[in-house]
Amino acid sequence: KQAKAAGKPQVYEPREASAARRRFSIETELRRALDKDQLRLFYQPLINLKSGEVAGFEALARWTHEDRGEISPTEFIPVAEESGLILQLGRWAMDRAAQTVAEWDRQAGEPLPVYVGVNLSAIQVARDNIAEVVESALRSTGLAGNRLTLELTESSIVQDPGRAMRVFEALKALDATVAMDDFGTGYSSLAYLQRLPIDVLKIDKSFVTGMMRDPDAVAIVRAVLSLADALGMSTTAEGVETVELATTLATLGCASGQGYYFARPLEADAALEYWKGRRKK
Ligand code: C2E
Ligand code: CA
Ligand code: CA
Ligand code: CA
Repeated sequence: KQAKAAGKPQVYEPREASAARRRFSIETELRRALDKDQLRLFYQPLINLKSGEVAGFEALARWTHEDRGEISPTEFIPVAEESGLILQLGRWAMDRAAQTVAEWDRQAGEPLPVYVGVNLSAIQVARDNIAEVVESALRSTGLAGNRLTLELTESSIVQDPGRAMRVFEALKALDATVAMDDFGTGYSSLAYLQRLPIDVLKIDKSFVTGMMRDPDAVAIVRAVLSLADALGMSTTAEGVETVELATTLATLGCASGQGYYFARPLEADAALEYWKGRRKK
């Protein structure tokens, strides 16, 4: 994920002296925003493509800057990774997501049959004690481990596969679900898929949005679905923007879908309402 971010062109900002300068001020201001608890988490539903019910939510960080307005995570997450602030941000996101799910359960009067997916940066995997971060979020909220899905990228494996193996196994020991995020965009070898305890493959939205006009993208999605099936893994498709995509993915056997066709990332209260609205019984 880092390599991908580094290769992206900088957005030209006429009011900034340079992209490097914007980056530096983003870092300073992100540090301040984290200290003042000014980041928020939004929750995007993942829909079970067979039943139409909400299977879970992905927690996504949001930052509304006092002067600059909304800053995209595609801009501030790479800055957080390069500056090391991702460790603090990652711990915050884990705690916040677990607190939200515990609050939903409290409001519903019972554990909701949904999980929350939390993104883990490769930097966290390399430098933090992930198992301790997850365990502490579970302990302070009383949530069961199976309410959490950790979304890891292929980049967290390639650098130090041995370490990745220990992290993944520690997460499984806590009964958490492990998802391979942005699957197909990284450089990991298929051998890791077989060796690591991975429960879910998340098909990157670049393949999904390509499906409507590009037969090759359909072939890739088909191949990933059959690979997951053969390895006993579940599947989620990102970037489901149209009803046609939702129907096609359901027909191909993809287990769940996430995208603007269903819902954008929502505030916690709206996410709970969305879950209620899709409930079958
Ligand atoms: P991601 O993990 O691949 O998350 C999915 C992204 O796709 C989100 O972008 C989501 O808003 C967007 N998305 C969902 N449905 C659709 C759709 O139908 N069409 C399109 N075009 N996009 C859709 P977002 O929220 O801007 O986040 C971007 C990336 O920033 C995430 O990509 C993730 O890598 C990172 N990120 C966000 N929050 C966190 C966090 O708390 N921790 C870490 N480590 N990374 C985060
Ligand atoms: Ca993700
Ligand atoms: Ca993803
Ligand atoms: Ca993605």
